[in-house]
Amino acid sequence: MARLDPALQALALDPVPERNRNDWSSLDPQSPVALFRPRTTEDVAAIMTAAHTTGTVVVPQGGLTGLSGGARPIEGGVALSLERMTGVIDVDEAASTMTVWAGTPLEVIQKAAEERGLYFSLDLGARGSCAIGGNVSTNAGGNRVIRYGMARDLVLGMEVVLPDGTVLTNLNKMMKNNTGYDLKQLFIGAEGTLGIITRLVLKLHPLPGATHAAVLGAASYDAVLNMLTAARRGLGPNLSAFEVMWPDYWNIAMRAEGVRSPLAGEHAFYVLIESQGTDEGIDGARFEKFLEALFEQGVIEDGAMSQSLSDVKAFWATRDAAAEFKALLGPHMAYDVSMSVGRMDEYAQACRTRLARDVPGCLSCYYGHIGDGNLHLLAWVPGDAAQPQAEISKVVYEIIRDFGGSISAEHGIGLTKKPYLSYSRSPEELALMARIKAALDPKGILNPGKVIDAPLPATEDRT
Ligand SMILES: Cc1cc2nc3c(=O)[nH]c(=O)nc-3n(C[C@H](O)[C@H](O)[C@H](O)COP(=O)(O)OP(=O)(O)OC[C@H]3O[C@@H](n4cnc5c(N)ncnc54)[C@H](O)[C@@H]3O)c2cc1C
Repeated sequence: MARLDPALQALALDPVPERNRNDWSSLDPQSPVALFRPRTTEDVAAIMTAAHTTGTVVVPQGGLTGLSGGARPIEGGVALSLERMTGVIDVDEAASTMTVWAGTPLEVIQKAAEERGLYFSLDLGARGSCAIGGNVSTNAGGNRVIRYGMARDLVLGMEVVLPDGTVLTNLNKMMKNNTGYDLKQLFIGAEGTLGIITRLVLKLHPLPGATHAAVLGAASYDAVLNMLTAARRGLGPNLSAFEVMWPDYWNIAMRAEGVRSPLAGEHAFYVLIESQGTDEGIDGARFEKFLEALFEQGVIEDGAMSQSLSDVKAFWATRDAAAEFKALLGPHMAYDVSMSVGRMDEYAQACRTRLARDVPGCLSCYYGHIGDGNLHLLAWVPGDAAQPQAEISKVVYEIIRDFGGSISAEHGIGLTKKPYLSYSRSPEELALMARIKAALDPKGILNPGKVIDAPLPATEDRT
């Protein structure tokens, strides 16, 4: 703090509230020197200009629901929260876009779109707490990627403040704009290491007029794959979610408050399929026909189809129960990996076996956005407050490397996955990432130590 321009002190909070000392990762909290809560892009630019001049480390913070330690402050540095830069700036119905401040909670954006008969398709369990700037900075995925894509696919324009305080404003609303490098892509998924996003233009879709869901029980992973192929063919563009839960996950989820199984028996796999259409009559009949065909072909053992939107919500509760696992399991490690859809059960089996063998007492459970090739897994040693984090991560990531998959499907690298980044990226890719970081942040002041280290140039080149 003492090293920053006194004019900026009015934007700072000191001491720093407890909640700004960590995100949702299992890392220990850190105390920044101060917390800045700017109100405007100009404020952010002034803070970054001063930080650049004084060499002060800045960590951007959104809703702090990140699971990789990306928004965790750095000792001796400051945190910059976007919590005061919230609200919808403009909804353009003809262009089907919404312009928002980066600190706006995701749920606020979803509701604002809905009020106008429009739909913002990004959705995840942390919707009430996470902010759109954090969602875009982590390139969040969530529940409906199979239909609408990830956060990256929903951003048309962006305003971002660079580490030296330069403001790049390109609030583009156009679908087509091939005018050189698409600079916004650099900042999407960069986890606040290249710039601070202040405003965004988001792509909206029509509000679905008909939503149907089913929970299905399957006897084998081959049957799950058959279901996925049939859903892509039978539901076409209406297929909006294809979630799979293994019994180890399912049995814990059923202990969460308000969650109950819509199926009577036990199954080797539980599948949640959702369809979003525009016409209740046509799309409801199509969904029913699709399910009937699955039954007739013997692909499913048992199934429940939604009769109302409250059924759809109740079905999703089986999957959203993951948010309650902190309370149900106690300390545990959470992973989100991706790989070829066809090999996911093979991966789950290998992981379960090796964790039990190599980490004494370790249990694990599996679930995920399987239609997107994204598997989540939780691993824990019951009763161990510290958890053997390094041992568990080694098993999970070594197997994913052998499977040719990705160590992070959607939660990002942050701090927790940084030691394993080379499992999923080539040396040449890592070198280019480091060069990009060094080019945009030559003094290494913006969220340093997260995602990738950039070798700093010699002191005389850094002014
Ligand atoms: C219950 C639960 C369910 C979840 N489900 C999913 C899921 O299904 N899919 C998924 O992808 N994620 C999921 N997550 C993870 C998390 O919600 C997402 O990563 C989310 O996008 C983070 O947003 P945030 O605002 O909380 O960001 P934060 O945690 O505050 O920050 C995340 C990263 O972005 C940077 N950042 C934040 N704001 C800005 C900004 N304006 N400019 C530049 N950098 C910035 C931070 O420095 C940090 O590196 C879940 C988390 C929880 C707790």
